[in-house]
Amino acid sequence: MMFPVKKVVAQLSYKLARHCIRLIEQDERGTSKGRCSLCGCVDKKKLHRVHRGLFKCENCGTTQNADVNGAGNQLSRYLRVDELPSISSRGCLAQPTMWQWNNHLWEAVPC
Ligand SMILES: [Zn+2]
Repeated sequence: MMFPVKKVVAQLSYKLARHCIRLIEQDERGTSKGRCSLCGCVDKKKLHRVHRGLFKCENCGTTQNADVNGAGNQLSRYLRVDELPSISSRGCLAQPTMWQWNNHLWEAVPC
C-alpha cells in the first residue's frame, strides 16, 4: 500500500492554515543514510544500513529506524545544527522537545 504523501501534505497544510500556521516542506533526499542524526557522524565506514529500515552508527553505538534517522537529519538541516541535543525526542511522546529562536539560531530548551 502506498502512503498518500501529497494528499496528507495538502490536508495538513489546509488544517494548519486554519490556525495561521504555514507548512514548510523539507527536501528529504539524502537524509536517511550517510549521516547519523544523533552524533552527526558522516564516516561511511562507521555507518551501516543493517536492513532496509535499520540504521546503525558505530561512532555512537546506536541503532535506530532509518526513517527516524532521516527525520532527525531533516530536523538538523532545518534548524541548521550539526548535532541534535540529547534531550531531543526520538518518537517517545513522553519526551517532548521545545526549540527557541535566539535571533541567531535555534536552541533546545530543556522541558
Ligand atoms: Zn552516531
